[in-house]
Amino acid sequence: MNILVTGGSGFIGSALIEYIFSTTKYNILNVDKLTYASYHSFSKKITTNKRYTFKKLDICSNKMSNLLKNFQPDILLHMAAESHVDNSINSPNDFINTNILGTYNLLKTTKEYLGSESKKKSSFKFINFSTDEVYGDLMDQKIRKFSENTRYNPSSPYSASKASADHLVNAWQRTYDLPAITINSSNNYGPRQHHEKLIPLTIKNAISGKKIPIYGNGLQKRDWLYVEDCSRAILKIINNGRVGQCYNIGSRNIINNIDLVKKICKILDKFYPKKLKKNLKSYFDLVKYVKDRPGHDRFYAIEPRKIEKELKWKAKIKMSEGLKTTIQWYIDYYKGHN
Ligand code: NAD
Repeated sequence: MNILVTGGSGFIGSALIEYIFSTTKYNILNVDKLTYASYHSFSKKITTNKRYTFKKLDICSNKMSNLLKNFQPDILLHMAAESHVDNSINSPNDFINTNILGTYNLLKTTKEYLGSESKKKSSFKFINFSTDEVYGDLMDQKIRKFSENTRYNPSSPYSASKASADHLVNAWQRTYDLPAITINSSNNYGPRQHHEKLIPLTIKNAISGKKIPIYGNGLQKRDWLYVEDCSRAILKIINNGRVGQCYNIGSRNIINNIDLVKKICKILDKFYPKKLKKNLKSYFDLVKYVKDRPGHDRFYAIEPRKIEKELKWKAKIKMSEGLKTTIQWYIDYYKGHN
């Protein structure tokens, strides 16, 4: 099988490519613009694999069309995005270009690629990887968790741009019969995430003796999914997901930001005490509450019952285990990059 992944050099994409290579014989073409957020060292490990091809390209480019013709993908897994909410608030332009116009370009190109050949269409899937943030703040709603039928109600320019992309994908599916699936995932964590995000930032600042910033009161709740569990879910959807469907993926691991930071600090206190400054009892003493992000959603929680029942997928990695692996990875990584 040929899989074209967009954004495969990012946090989730790079974990997914490793996972697919270690569990299948599929070929992958990774199309990535290599923005600041991508994981650059990743390619060294993967480029030696004969089943891997990399193309540095913006998904908005009209060169996408030739790439599809030459590679002949059975799956287009679209993960490329501008992904950091704070950046979307300060500078929304790239979010509109990549997340909305980039998705439109991929849909247009895929429609051309599939043409009217029903055989090609019947074995092809356009998989749009999206977020639970499109559903907005659960605290404002009467439901307890987000299901695939929850109304879209995005709060930030990031989530609004992802919601727009999801709507475009649904429209191409319904109007042009484009074989598409959308995945709405909860927050992922694990190795290779850019340090602008909460977990890597906490670890990086803790081991450098810097303040650990926490937005507002730190009580924002999220459902954290280990990135390998996420990769397993994506592979299930590649193999057996039904065209025209949405799948919500989450781990039922709900924790608020301050308790999460506490957990990370406790693990660091136990396994990595050597970087703790002498005047501090715990890395948690480095926490500093800062002004909240405007429009900050307080609560996200996914109901993953559909994928659990239909595709027999369930998150396996316990948070204590996932966090230990993640922390160790960042400790090793920052040793080499400081
Ligand atoms: P990331 O920011 O780590 O990686 C994004 C990748 O996309 C980078 O390698 C970047 O270079 C590439 N990219 C950006 N703009 C591009 C463009 N115009 N053309 C080609 N490549 C481009 O993001 P991530 O955390 O790995 O997220 C991947 C996808 O998953 C995104 O669509 C994101 O919205 C979604 N998502 C992420 C999470 C999460 O917790 N990280 C949760 C739910 C959904």
